[in-house]
Amino acid sequence: MKAQIISIGDELLIGKTLNTNAAFIGNLLTENQINVTKISVVGDDEQSIKDAFEYSSKNFDVAIVTGGLGPTHDDITMKCIKEFFETELIENEKILENIKSIFARRGREVTDINKEQALVPKCSEPIPNIMGTAPGSWIEKDGWIFISMPGVPSEMEMMFSKYVLPKLIERRGEVADITKSKTFSTTGIPESTLFEKLGDLTTLLNGGKVAFLPNQFGVKVRVNATAATNEEADNKITEIEQRIRTIVGRYIYTCKEETLEEVVARLLTDRGLTIATAESCTGGALANRLTNISGSSIFFNRGVVTYSNGAKVELLRVDEDMIDKHGAVSIEVARQMAEGIRSTSGTDIGIATTGIMGPKSDFSDKPVGLVYIGICDENMVTAKEFRFGENRLLNKDRTSQAALEMLRRCILGIEYDQ
Ligand code: ATP
Ligand code: MG
Repeated sequence: MKAQIISIGDELLIGKTLNTNAAFIGNLLTENQINVTKISVVGDDEQSIKDAFEYSSKNFDVAIVTGGLGPTHDDITMKCIKEFFETELIENEKILENIKSIFARRGREVTDINKEQALVPKCSEPIPNIMGTAPGSWIEKDGWIFISMPGVPSEMEMMFSKYVLPKLIERRGEVADITKSKTFSTTGIPESTLFEKLGDLTTLLNGGKVAFLPNQFGVKVRVNATAATNEEADNKITEIEQRIRTIVGRYIYTCKEETLEEVVARLLTDRGLTIATAESCTGGALANRLTNISGSSIFFNRGVVTYSNGAKVELLRVDEDMIDKHGAVSIEVARQMAEGIRSTSGTDIGIATTGIMGPKSDFSDKPVGLVYIGICDENMVTAKEFRFGENRLLNKDRTSQAALEMLRRCILGIEYDQ
């Protein structure tokens, strides 16, 4: 079953609204073995919308349309449906009741404009909208399935999950092949190095597929495998996972939808460890990420932002001579900052950041993007040098990510190489 998603709305074209509807639908269709082969975005223009319908009817089994169903002047999808399918709009009792009850709950009068939303194409099966007033439509024409839903994400998501998807799965019937996928989140290793380390992908994947998805937090590696049954597809994924873990397992922090701070928080909590942070260049970003996790008071003792040299000396007992000799952005100071925060707070682990976030560097001998992260626990103290880029905010993200990864590896006893 080949599906096309058509998102309607000028706001999507000009980049004011992210097309999250297409992402939501695409994800669920793919998970349910319905192939999304095209996603189109069309402005609020009658001819373009009808052209898109025409094209879809000729090239796809299913069109899933979102947006432009509301009561305002720029919502023209229903008009286009009426003309494209050469049908008429008729009032639907149930839909009208739903609109009235929504307004009654809000204590508002139903206006004529609102009542118009109970008009549905005669040739359609209306799709109820329990979250809002605009109903959806399910239309079939010469074997082509056409589905239209409102653009408001919460309304669309509910309609799609509750009504559209189950019906599409039924229509899809038994599928010959099952595709399963798994995503490994890695960090602390560049995409190219990861690629090189994984070596010959044909052997590694044994018929599966792989995609590398990098961002400032690391590289996600998504693998797909197709087989005749669920079990076989799962087995293939497990085999690929084992091979990947053998080669680059140390860089993988999760294969779930979770952040590195969630993983680290769990490790700290499970082991009953406490932590304190001393941040210079990240300005509290690391403490912020750690405290984004609910229950962080169990492991997070304190975080200080020691931005000036004076603050580093006063609050962390960093040696003033050391700063004079090596500079505040140095491996020696990063190490002392970590030791300082650990001893003043009495935690199991101390971690510290110092670096030049850019876009300018005040030091001729130290480039923008140079960062040192120090970490210490009862048994050791160490610091690592990193070279990030020119963008200040991205550098903050990358530094906090690298710090969390040092933390993860410190807790798990995995050596840190980069
Ligand atoms: P309504 O009945 O509320 O007017 P509608 O079907 O007319 O619904 P639109 O007017 O197109 O929908 O969009 C309503 C809201 O949903 C807007 O805030 C819009 O930015 C958002 N929206 C529309 N399409 C998408 C999309 N593809 N992804 C994410 N948000 C969207
Ligand atoms: Mg609208």
